[in-house]
Amino acid sequence: MRRTRNVKVLATLGPASGSPEMIRRLFEAGADVFRLNMSHGNYDDVAAWHKAIRTVEQELGRPIGILVDLQGPKLRVGAMADGTVLEEGKPFRLDLDEAEGDAVRAALPHTEIFAALEPGMALLLDDGKIRLEVTAVSPDGADTVVKVGGSLTSNKGVNVPDAILPVTALSAKDREDLDFGLSLGVDWIALSFVQRAADITEAREIIGDRAWVMAKMEKPRAMDHLDEIMEVSDAIMVARGDLGVELPIEQVPGLQKTITRAARRAGKPVVVATQMLESMIEAPTPTRAEVTDVATAVFEGADAVMLSAESAVGGYPLEAVTMMDRVAHSVETDPQYRAIIEQAETRPETTSADAIMLAAHQVADTIGVAAIVCYTTSGSTGLRASRERPDVPIMVLTPSRDTARRMAIAWGVHCVETEDAQSFRDMVDRAAAIAESEGFAEAGEQIIITAGVPFGTPGSTNVLRIATIGAP
Ligand code: PGA
Ligand code: MN
Repeated sequence: MRRTRNVKVLATLGPASGSPEMIRRLFEAGADVFRLNMSHGNYDDVAAWHKAIRTVEQELGRPIGILVDLQGPKLRVGAMADGTVLEEGKPFRLDLDEAEGDAVRAALPHTEIFAALEPGMALLLDDGKIRLEVTAVSPDGADTVVKVGGSLTSNKGVNVPDAILPVTALSAKDREDLDFGLSLGVDWIALSFVQRAADITEAREIIGDRAWVMAKMEKPRAMDHLDEIMEVSDAIMVARGDLGVELPIEQVPGLQKTITRAARRAGKPVVVATQMLESMIEAPTPTRAEVTDVATAVFEGADAVMLSAESAVGGYPLEAVTMMDRVAHSVETDPQYRAIIEQAETRPETTSADAIMLAAHQVADTIGVAAIVCYTTSGSTGLRASRERPDVPIMVLTPSRDTARRMAIAWGVHCVETEDAQSFRDMVDRAAAIAESEGFAEAGEQIIITAGVPFGTPGSTNVLRIATIGAP
């Protein structure tokens, strides 16, 4: 089974999509990676979904990526009295008192926050629906004035876009969720509300090489540190949901371009997320604007596009995945696609792997091969091949099952688990046989093979071979 598109599809699982049958159908319809969101799922559900994904993987013989998304330091108000409405122009206090909140005050049970607030800063409640401005702060509370009012119910989220919050990226809940996810065995861990590179390195100390780490860009302060965060992360998500609350919503499209380009330059997979097909939560077809939004991400060369509520709780998860797949196909066969995707500047770094991948791309363009086949253990060479965004399919051959699953998120990559090559002869024969059996090349067609010699020792790619399928 092979996909005939480059961009990958991430689908968030939830009550609407968690049955083993539905997971299988979503994969068959085009979901390459499943997101298990720890903000919502309980451990029993998450474990059941994990098991179902691994079963489908085994039955269909294709690696599937699993991403566990940690909630991060999401601030929330405490319990609120029924029917509470905040009125514009009125004072409103946030404090540590656990008593039920009302129209004049609410609990914000996070001591460390008050030290980071300053008069004039904005506080956004309930995804930005309510806006407060800080007028005075003390160690145990903040006085504010209501700028935009509205009704406030229990446990609604609080965003503080202007402050660098003195919170670690991993809350106590995140640490438990992380341990749980790692005990199941997952491929990617996504960190929410990352503010600085240290948030990623801190998580990495726990994760080690058990999973790859994705930084979710959803804080203005993270944008100030984009390059450092990119450097220490394995992938990046344009988390437009919270980003559009923390920053003026009209800045989201430009930020998406900034993040996507930076990721493509760095050769780190980039996921565009949230509200991509939002209306499909309730309808079997999307709006023109949503289709155009997905198409934009595909034209920009994003590695993956993501479904959130559409696949987790919506009425049409299968239709949503199918729609992603259809839009991706349509964009990638559009005559303008290549020209647009090639606009991004991705000059090679001064490594032999990049030199070989640039050469592979050029050879593919010059002689028109059927596929580029890369041997890689860690996956890093596969990502460098993907970074080239070549016009032919990329097959990644790896002895590591973890690598095969992680690569499911990367643009254009079809990964196959196989032993390392033993010799030059074996390298060619194995690549040719797999390219043929997976439906990427036919007898008489040429493929490009890249590998690292000496074989069997993980290291830098240093060989490029052009081979003809079926030639002795
Ligand atoms: P979330 O992250 O769905 O976990 O909030 C994505 C986003 O904020 O866009
Ligand atoms: Mn978010």
